[in-house]
Amino acid sequence: MPKAFLIDTTRCTACRGCQIACKEWHGLPAVPTRQRGSHQNPPDLNPCNLKIVRFHEHLDKDGRVMWNFFPDQCRHCQQPPCVMMAEMAVPGSMFKDKKTGAVLITEKFKDMEKIDVDTVVASCPYNIPRYDARTRMLTKCDMCIDRVQAGLEPMCVKTCPTGCMAFGEREEMLALAHRRLEEAKKRFPKACLVDEEEVNVFYVLAEEPEHYYAYASFG
Ligand code: SF4
Ligand code: SF4
Ligand code: SF4
Repeated sequence: MPKAFLIDTTRCTACRGCQIACKEWHGLPAVPTRQRGSHQNPPDLNPCNLKIVRFHEHLDKDGRVMWNFFPDQCRHCQQPPCVMMAEMAVPGSMFKDKKTGAVLITEKFKDMEKIDVDTVVASCPYNIPRYDARTRMLTKCDMCIDRVQAGLEPMCVKTCPTGCMAFGEREEMLALAHRRLEEAKKRFPKACLVDEEEVNVFYVLAEEPEHYYAYASFG
């Protein structure tokens, strides 16, 4: 049975525990950075940050500042365009794991020409994968496949202290997402669930998607 994540952003405090836990589990080093006048740091996904918490603010109709947090990661799409493009260039370089639904990258990716790498990166509707020129590998969330195959939760889910994240069978997560959406609507009348048919990471948002960094920039 395919697996899925629920990310209920209405419960996210932007503590960035998930962002750090992801780095630690994958043994990824710190990235030199600097203060840019924003809480978002590092400023973007990169080969050493497979998950980042994105920040977006805007004024509501009454002039109040609304500050929205969005833990961003690969959606492990149902029909992943990245896999389609990668498979056309180098067969076996990417695949969707039948058991878990995880979208994964293999060592064969190193055989890909730069022009094809760019095509794979550009095919992602969520602007997720990043190419690591040093290792010649594409990088992105791997669903913590080693943990999942051992019957454990992904590290980001295990770490989240607020119940924002959950992980399990796709149908169970979808049902939970709809229950959370109904709960969220009591406080946020415009709450919504995005792209549920296309992805395996279900985001509950407090407002319309354009008020979140990921959708404001790439939707
Ligand atoms: Fe591929 Fe992007 Fe979908 Fe992840 S979110 S599976 S990188 S298309
Ligand atoms: Fe990172 Fe694992 Fe969470 Fe993916 S599932 S964002 S690899 S911790
Ligand atoms: Fe949000 Fe949970 Fe990540 Fe903290 S650990 S930033 S509450 S999703």
